[in-house]
Amino acid sequence: MSDQIRPPDLLFGRWTGPVARGNERGKPMFGLNVDIGVDLGTANVLVYIKGRGIALQEPSVVAINKENNKIIAVGSEARRMLGRTPGNIVATRPLRDGVIADYEVTEKMLRYFINKSGGRRLFFRPRIMVCIPSGVTGVEERAVRQAALQAGAKSAYVIEEPLAAALGAGLDISEPSGTMVVDIGGGTTDVAVLSLGGIVCSRSIRVAGDKIDEAIVRFVRREFNLAIGERTGEEIKIEVGTAYPNGTEEKEIEIKGRDLVSGLPRAVTINRRQVHEATKETLEAVVSAVKEVLERTPPELSADIVNKGIVMTGGGALLHGMDRLLSEETRVPVHVADDPLSCVARGTGRALGMISFLKETKPRGGAPSRL
Ligand code: ADP
Ligand code: MG
Repeated sequence: MSDQIRPPDLLFGRWTGPVARGNERGKPMFGLNVDIGVDLGTANVLVYIKGRGIALQEPSVVAINKENNKIIAVGSEARRMLGRTPGNIVATRPLRDGVIADYEVTEKMLRYFINKSGGRRLFFRPRIMVCIPSGVTGVEERAVRQAALQAGAKSAYVIEEPLAAALGAGLDISEPSGTMVVDIGGGTTDVAVLSLGGIVCSRSIRVAGDKIDEAIVRFVRREFNLAIGERTGEEIKIEVGTAYPNGTEEKEIEIKGRDLVSGLPRAVTINRRQVHEATKETLEAVVSAVKEVLERTPPELSADIVNKGIVMTGGGALLHGMDRLLSEETRVPVHVADDPLSCVARGTGRALGMISFLKETKPRGGAPSRL
């Protein structure tokens, strides 16, 4: 859990780079700047290529053969294996809780995705900006940049999620005016107030989409004596889940799992009201994090947020009724960004386009020291 208050004098919050490549093999042919933005999310990795848009969107899952430590599948293919592997194969999510559990695997995964997106083949040594979850430490951050360099980057930068989310949502964060971004991903929810291109106050909690799925799995086990996997939990959430059941149509879904008493496969039907019952405490934790950041927000910025509203990004923003719940609890208007799942990736690409501008203008408070 990270909890920080920062003066708004750091453009891009925590970000670093570029790192010189140890082994310089060549120079850009035409001096063309090709920019690639990567959203290294806890649930999904997206690669954004300037001029081409989102070039790749795949789950951050890796399947490994435990016997020889070889990676056998990455992305969607590995995701299909989650919960379905024989003993010698494990399908894991190396960033699951917003920290890099295994950075060798993370590095390989990142390199695989950058190469797969065509970034390496199409362009000569692109600049790569990677958006990392807020909980990532300095050492892990370096590993991420190193992986980007190894994947062929000319220079690699790292940007924090709230800034990328705000840029992706098209918000103007360079003004001395408060903006609040709430990003609900798979592993973490990041809440931040931004002004003058920096993070004024923020909070990151490890309660997001995964915890909602887990709550559903537990509920089904308790209420129906039925064991289901997390992927089924997620499916239930997406199909019939809601954060605001009042006045919405009733919906239900048939799910299959293993009966805990007989051990045999069985199907049950679960409805929207039950799913809400299962998930409301988890959703409450997300709402509390937002309220807590609002309470710590300087009053001038609070006034801006009331006028502009809160912007939600990340896959969790798509949960039915989430915007209504948040808006009712905070009494502030809430907007869901366009295509919330790709918002951070687009913002990361946009941030790269601002680097030279930042270098030239040396904005108030000074440009990031490590530029
Ligand atoms: P991250 O940035 O951590 O990789 P994402 O922003 O990609 O996460 O969001 C992934 C999360 O969003 C997952 O928990 C997924 O279940 C959830 N999600 C995606 N679509 C929906 C939807 N329509 N309704 C509710 N949750 C959704
Ligand atoms: Mg994200």
